[in-house]
Amino acid sequence: MARLGTETAFEVLAKARALEAQGREIVHLEIGEPDFDTPKAVVAAGIAALERGETHYTPSAGVVELREAIAEWLKARRGLAVDPAKVIVAPGAKPIMFYALLALLEEGDEAIYPDPGFPIYSSMIDFAGARGVPIALREKNAFDVDLDELRSLVTARTKVLILNSPHNPTGGVLSPSTIREIARLARERDLWVLADEIYGEILYEGEHRSIVREDGLAERTILLDGFSKTYAMTGWRLGFGVFPAPLVVPVTKLVTNSVSCTATFVQRAGVAALAARPPEVDAMVKAFRERRDRIVAGLNEIAGITCTVPRGAFYAFPNITGLGLGDSARVADRFLNEAGVAVLAGTAFGRYGEGYLRLSYANSLPNIERALDRIGAWTAEARAATARI
Ligand code: PMP
Repeated sequence: MARLGTETAFEVLAKARALEAQGREIVHLEIGEPDFDTPKAVVAAGIAALERGETHYTPSAGVVELREAIAEWLKARRGLAVDPAKVIVAPGAKPIMFYALLALLEEGDEAIYPDPGFPIYSSMIDFAGARGVPIALREKNAFDVDLDELRSLVTARTKVLILNSPHNPTGGVLSPSTIREIARLARERDLWVLADEIYGEILYEGEHRSIVREDGLAERTILLDGFSKTYAMTGWRLGFGVFPAPLVVPVTKLVTNSVSCTATFVQRAGVAALAARPPEVDAMVKAFRERRDRIVAGLNEIAGITCTVPRGAFYAFPNITGLGLGDSARVADRFLNEAGVAVLAGTAFGRYGEGYLRLSYANSLPNIERALDRIGAWTAEARAATARI
């Protein structure tokens, strides 16, 4: 148990709620979930399934209709030919991560993961008894993977490489040439790839390109995706993985042993989400783009803060070293306690996140404006106070 990590976002949310209970008013930019409602047609399909009495177990890997709908969707949106028998449905994308890493890793193995990156990767690697090896994502490379650095980290023990594009927390996207080179490395060094593509539909330029399309990668890649972000369905708990053939039976057994199956009516709602793209999805991405443009422009106007333009997901990852107000954790704490804006320290995503904060812009434009005003006013005051000392 001591090896398990956690997600700081939930801790900061709890702290913010405690301040609110004391009468403070907080702008929430900490939690990574769309602030929109689930599309109407998806909700209706879930309700209809409940009313039809779809309230019993399903096969562990999911209902056939959903696995087929996922395969068709992957063909249409990603250009992938996927056998529905290799699709495994789970209550969220997170369990797919859990199952894949439990199935693949054991003591003595090494797994490379992005840093900064989703904190559950390193937590699960440690939990499985393997050694996590961070690959730094750097601002000077637009938070893309440095291929020389990656090659230098691969050893005879490296078993798994975790990728996340579009990326949480930086909003970075792997370039096509990086994807090609990583695929080559995976083939040469016989690596499994866990490709977390949960933000694949929240992309502001171009089309999402899955590494699974590269030669020979389908047989060594677990494609992880889900409904939480694209369809604003975080609380429904619905995700899926596409697994290479040897992993299908073991991972299905992990599902049987842990949760039996994913809620039946939730799976039916998922079929509806994929059958006809709800208009709300594109409207949501358009809103995220406007908010991104506003928050990035606003942050760059604040002395001591610089922010690159995220290309996907819904997070801004500003560099705050110019503020001269201490490390990321301290600045994040002071933003919450003194400025009333809940954000996450870059170090909540690994040590290479030092010097940065993560601001989720899955929040309304008026709230983003309020956050920017507060951060601007507070940082000016705090820097002036530091200068006086
Ligand atoms: N991967 C990444 C990169 C995420 O940011 C998240 C959610 N914050 C997940 C996976 C988990 O998604 P789910 O809610 O579907 O479990």
